[in-house]
Amino acid sequence: PYLDDPDVVSPAAEDVRPPVPGPESDKYRRGVVGILAGGEAFTGAAVLSVGGAVRGGAGMVRFASVRPAVELVRQRWPEAVTTVIEPGEKALDGIGRVQAWVAGPGLGTGEDAEGLLQAVLSTELPVLVDADGLTVLARRRDLLARDAPTLLTPHAGELARLLDADRGEIEARRLEFVRRAAAELDATVLLKGSTTVIAEPGRPVRVNPTGTSWLATAGTGDVLSGLTGALLAGGLSALDAATAGAYLHGLAARLAAGGASPDAGEAPIGAFDVITALPAAF
Ligand code: AMP
Ligand code: MG
Repeated sequence: PYLDDPDVVSPAAEDVRPPVPGPESDKYRRGVVGILAGGEAFTGAAVLSVGGAVRGGAGMVRFASVRPAVELVRQRWPEAVTTVIEPGEKALDGIGRVQAWVAGPGLGTGEDAEGLLQAVLSTELPVLVDADGLTVLARRRDLLARDAPTLLTPHAGELARLLDADRGEIEARRLEFVRRAAAELDATVLLKGSTTVIAEPGRPVRVNPTGTSWLATAGTGDVLSGLTGALLAGGLSALDAATAGAYLHGLAARLAAGGASPDAGEAPIGAFDVITALPAAF
């Protein structure tokens, strides 16, 4: 039914063009993505988001968080360059050369999280906001008044809070609500769910053709945030980064769930399997 709408397009594989390094590339030119994620309570989301960015082609991942999250990320992703944020700190000083930020997975929703989100959104850089960052934005929509591109990646529940709308209505009329969100919030909006849809004011809605229901498991959204942030830092527009991120994420999940035998059908996967399958998806 989506594709009967003339104002809707579904990208094909050839429309998805993640940046590819060449002889002139170095880690800085490939894109430095800053990730502000994880907190005292949740550290796993940070590990998954950083993994999505590392395997999403970032030249460098700069990870900033409180100590427990930094310690876990360092163990799992020694590739990441980390900065410890002390409790109460609300600035992100000295984190240089970042070209795009991802903010929100596992970040918490308290005053410290709000201050740090505000610091990221007050830069002139593209920012992707996900998860707890979206919960903070629901009470601080004023933070969306900025000139640089903003990409929001809510599921229906997070979008319901942002728009003060009913989750069930969003689920039933996803195209309408993703368009309304982009217009009202003046942002690029990627609405997650069984079919991911992406809207930007004045552009046709993009419907992602990849994915599998096995993606409905904790942590896969965090992988998408890091992956899409890497694409943003690599120079794609918010709309193209969202499109390529959703496409590659869904394809990686299908490859992971496809298992050893093409005849066997799909099998359960965890979020880490999606990270591991990203190179094959690219
Ligand atoms: P999150 O809601 O942040 O945990 O992200 C969940 C991820 O799984 C998103 O990429 C969703 O698009 C995807 N997803 C959730 N439910 C389904 C489903 N029923 N079928 C396909 N993908 C899904
Ligand atoms: Mg999520």
